[in-house]
This record gives sequence, C-alpha cells and structure tokens, in this order.
Amino acid sequence: MNSIEENLKEIQNTIPEKVTLVAVSKTKPVSDLMEAYQAGQRVFGENKIQEMTQKWEELPKDIIWHMIGHVQTNKVKYMAPYVDTIHAVDSLKLLKEINKQAAKNDRIINCFLQIKIAKEDSKFGLSETDAIALLNSEEIKSLANVKIKGLMGMATFTDNTEQIIKEFKKIQSLYNQLTVDNPEFKILSIGMSGDYKLAIDCGSTMVRIGSSIFGARNYSH
Ligand SMILES: *Cc1c(COP(=O)(O)O)cnc(C)c1O
Repeated sequence: MNSIEENLKEIQNTIPEKVTLVAVSKTKPVSDLMEAYQAGQRVFGENKIQEMTQKWEELPKDIIWHMIGHVQTNKVKYMAPYVDTIHAVDSLKLLKEINKQAAKNDRIINCFLQIKIAKEDSKFGLSETDAIALLNSEEIKSLANVKIKGLMGMATFTDNTEQIIKEFKKIQSLYNQLTVDNPEFKILSIGMSGDYKLAIDCGSTMVRIGSSIFGARNYSH
C-alpha cells in the first residue's frame, strides 16, 4: 500500500489546480492527519462534530476544517469557534443557528446548500425548488455571519457511470443557474474517491476524498 503522502501527491497530480482537495479524515487517527499535514495538506473534512473538535484541539491551528456530514442544530455551537465551512446545510433553521453561533464567536462561517441528487431516500438535502426558495427568502438576507458559497451533492453509490453523470449534471446545471445572480457562489462540492474524476468533468471545484488518501475506513471499533 502507498503512503498517505504518495496517495496525496497522486491525487493532486490528477486534479486541476483550481479544484480544492478536502482530505476526508473521519475515523482516522490524528497521526494520519499529521502525515497528510506534513505532506502539505491543509484542508480536512470530518463528518462528526465531536471527533472534529477533538482533532482541532490536538492538531496545528492553520488547518482549515470542513464539516461534511449532516449537522444537528444543537451541536453547531461546538464547532462555531473554528469551523471554516459547513457542506450540508439543508434548512433555514440550521442556517439561522449557524449564523447565531458564528456571531457569538465574531466570525463568518461559509456554508454550502446540500442538494439531493441521488436516487436513494437515505441521502439528506434540498430539492432544487427548495434551494432556490431558500436563497430567495427575505430571512436569509439578515444573516450577516454566514456566507452561502456554493452547493454540495452526493451521487448514488453505484457502478453505473451514466447514472452518476446524470446526477452530477443536474447539480451542475443548478449551480450554473445560481451563479448568475450570486457573485458569492463559487464552489461546487461534488466528487469522492470513487467518482471524483466524473465530478471534475461535470464542473466540480471541490472534491472530498477519504479512502483514496487514508485507506479504507474501519467502523468496527
Ligand atoms: C466519507 C465522505 C466522503 C469521502 O468518501 P470516500 O469514498 O472515502 O472518498 C465524501 N463526502 C462525504 C459527505 C462523506 O461523508
């Protein structure tokens, strides 16, 4: 097996310079994150707030932390002091809480709206119509401590390339439509280990890659 550093270099070499790599380090020990850090990686993604906060406490403070998992409103306060970007915003209620906690910490937190593109029911996210309605709502204008900077989506977990491309094209088209009126909209967060090349072909500007960097995850402990 290749080292974390070799994996990172290999991925960095295959993605265009304008695409940001989020190293998804969920379930991995801080020693693995440190290895990636020493290889130059600064943007890390986690999906559990408690785990991310523990790692934030232990690791160098110039790491840029992205919360990529589903967020419960009552836990936003734990990451508000340091989180850079929250990928899976799917309601006005959550956005308001992020704004409130960001304000308490005198910060601005970047947010992406999660769009439901997969066929599976289990995936969270907004429909296109609900995302547009949310962005056009009066209430959103008063939220001074959040910046909605783009969209995030997860394709169906399948070998069917056509299906994945269809889903990525759907979110790409919504993204292109929204950038017209929204100069702050700059990021399309699509693509994981199995599908990031397809995602880049569909306009991804940010890929979230875990297992191809750190190896397969072991959830048994
Ligand atoms: C775990 C996870 C990833 C990374 O998945 P890999 O297949 O290991 O690259 C990306 N995005 C989200 C939202 C995740 O939860």
